[in-house]
Amino acid sequence: MRWMLFALVVGCDPGDDWMTAPDPDGEAEAIALAWSEIYETPGPLPEIAWVTEGLVCRDGRGYMLDGECTLGHFGEDDVVYVARPAGLRISRTALAHELAHAAQWMREGVIDMHHQGAYFTPQGPANRGGIYLASAGY
Ligand SMILES: [Zn+2]
Repeated sequence: MRWMLFALVVGCDPGDDWMTAPDPDGEAEAIALAWSEIYETPGPLPEIAWVTEGLVCRDGRGYMLDGECTLGHFGEDDVVYVARPAGLRISRTALAHELAHAAQWMREGVIDMHHQGAYFTPQGPANRGGIYLASAGY
């Protein structure tokens, strides 16, 4: 069941254009704090892979996945992938949104791919996580 759900979300191998980069100073701690304070998830922070290469759509802010431009996704490998153009603050990326997908998956076993549920309302963790990171200066 789990793999079938992910097959709906992630359809293809992104190939060799992907690259992950280490977090600049302080960001990893801010993300971990957001995870524990906003997402209220009993599990550990998922691995985050910053996509810094292959940003070929949405004015250099997105990458192609399964034929569509995306700013991030929660992968079948339980990794949060987030497009990150050079110089863009993490609060301006899809990180908070993708962490909400990861949190919902860990807590409820659900992938709300159409963003209909409470995780994606203005009061939900996707939005609050982004506000938290921005207010912390990230
Ligand atoms: Zn989403």
